[in-house]
Amino acid sequence: MSYQNRTDIDKYKPLLADYLLKYHNIRSLRKPFNCLNPNHNDNHPSMSYSGRYNICKCFACGATYDLFGLIGIDYNIDSFPEQIEIAKSLYPNINTDYQKEFYVIERNDNNYKTIDFTNYYQKCKKNIFKTNYLENRKIDKSLLEKYNVGYDENKEMIIFPINKNSYFARGVNSDLKLKSKGTSYLWNEELLKDSDNNIIYVTESIIDSLSLETINKDVKTVALNGVSNYKRLIKIVKEFNYKGLLVLAFDKDKTGLYYQILVDKELTDINVDSFSCSLINNFDDNCKDLNNALMENREKLEKNFEYINLNLEKNIEKKEEKRKEELEL
Ligand SMILES: [Zn+2]
Repeated sequence: MSYQNRTDIDKYKPLLADYLLKYHNIRSLRKPFNCLNPNHNDNHPSMSYSGRYNICKCFACGATYDLFGLIGIDYNIDSFPEQIEIAKSLYPNINTDYQKEFYVIERNDNNYKTIDFTNYYQKCKKNIFKTNYLENRKIDKSLLEKYNVGYDENKEMIIFPINKNSYFARGVNSDLKLKSKGTSYLWNEELLKDSDNNIIYVTESIIDSLSLETINKDVKTVALNGVSNYKRLIKIVKEFNYKGLLVLAFDKDKTGLYYQILVDKELTDINVDSFSCSLINNFDDNCKDLNNALMENREKLEKNFEYINLNLEKNIEKKEEKRKEELEL
């Protein structure tokens, strides 16, 4: 083992705690959590973390991991040098303040072959009439055409093409969600390229985005495909230098609220205007997301949206005028 590797190991090993909290959503390292060994179906939390040895260990199956071992499992990589590389990319600023830094891992590397799904999409699109899942969810039919939404009969899943190499799928008879391998693109990510789209609504799921588009065909909306994918949003906003306003309309539950605050803060840190809102505050407690709201009371949702959107537009206009006045002075 080279000297360099040895120093790297010592440096990164203590990040296991951060990695468990951040990437495995473990809330507390003081008590056991479900075993992370994929071959151990752990129903009683059996794995515990040792800060002294920088490992986590399962007392039921015996599996023991340090940071690199765990990365190996999560990224399906056996090679130790590659595990170190991943650790480095996850914590690029380890020498300064790694906790403030975020980084998106994109496995568009040699290990992953990009697949063109165009034919698959066409086949699925022809079968979309075989399910009434989206109709039951009150999604406007014209949007299925617009986005080439399809149905995979074998998987019993709706297929939402994101681009020719990436799609998102959800089960019609189960809660199953699936994403094609590779980069975790956002739904409608391209909209962020154009700052003339001065208001873009960010939702948690494609169904939420389609629900908004159902009530207002002009709305611009991007979906994260899972809140934890917000890092992709931050990355893209930076990359495209998006200058408009992002309206965060996440689910009305603990996770949604938590991420709404987190994302709002990260956007502020990079000088992107954002606004957290709930379009469904005046719906009852069972109504957790935009699609629930659409199904429950379309008119109410429309009213909420119009009210908020109008006010945001007014605010933007005011700001614009102010900016112009300042320029003239
Ligand atoms: Zn175990």
